[in-house]
Amino acid sequence: MNDLVEPAKVGIVYETESPVLYETDNQIAWITLNRPDFNNAQNGQMTYALDDAFQKATKDDAVRCIVLAGNGKHFSAGHDIGTPGRDVLKHFDNRLMVPPHINKPAAELLYTREQEQYLGMCRRWRDIPKPTIAMVQGACVAGGLMLAWVCDLIVASEDAFFQDPVNRMGIPGVEYFAHAFELPPRVAMEFLLLGERMSAERAEQFGMVNRIVARDQLRQETAKMAAKLVAQPRLGNWLTKQAVHHVEELRGKRAAMDAQYHMHHFAHAQNDLVAGNSIAGLDATKMAAANKADAGEN
Ligand code: ZN
Repeated sequence: MNDLVEPAKVGIVYETESPVLYETDNQIAWITLNRPDFNNAQNGQMTYALDDAFQKATKDDAVRCIVLAGNGKHFSAGHDIGTPGRDVLKHFDNRLMVPPHINKPAAELLYTREQEQYLGMCRRWRDIPKPTIAMVQGACVAGGLMLAWVCDLIVASEDAFFQDPVNRMGIPGVEYFAHAFELPPRVAMEFLLLGERMSAERAEQFGMVNRIVARDQLRQETAKMAAKLVAQPRLGNWLTKQAVHHVEELRGKRAAMDAQYHMHHFAHAQNDLVAGNSIAGLDATKMAAANKADAGEN
């Protein structure tokens, strides 16, 4: 039985060959999302470059702390849903025990891709045995949240804001469903149902952000925190991460994420059935315009 399909042919135009930058300084690896012209929208090219960078930092004994940053005005506007470099239908060398997605029919294609590129990758990155800090400025939206949340600590600039507006697409949150672990349930409910922006200040009140600093001090203050982590015992850092993760697991984080992943994909499939498009025909421009209008911006 041949239940595979012919992969679709799509044109992809990458604006850069370096969607992620990597540098080390004083035993800190600085990993920087580098699609500033597209607010660091995450395409597959970036995801795999990010995985390469995390692998490199993990395997290099000279690196004792990792900072994840975003180049430009915003940390990340989320998954790429509309740049010329959108590459949902491109095959990459999968890093997890997941088959190729591009030759799978109907809902199986996206289900397979997002297990590999979103949920699976994020879980792997969360488990990196070295301390990680997300350094967040500007927008940290939808898929951007996933990248910040997999880090152990979050340092945000005063102008940073957080948002998951995908309920507008009929989808119950992005693929890495940490919302109700990052925020108290009723606040997570509001965050998801209304899909509004949450300021860094409000996020800090709930413990979603560790520290807020002035924009022009962001790198300096993050570097200071990273230097402290570098000075802590390597094994202590790793064990501490696992101890906190274990508490999250006892609270059911993995099971909650697995359950939501399937709701997320039921929603993608419903969108496809109703509108012929897994994200309800909403592209980046329409989503950004709606987000700005909702936030009272022009
Ligand atoms: Zn999805």
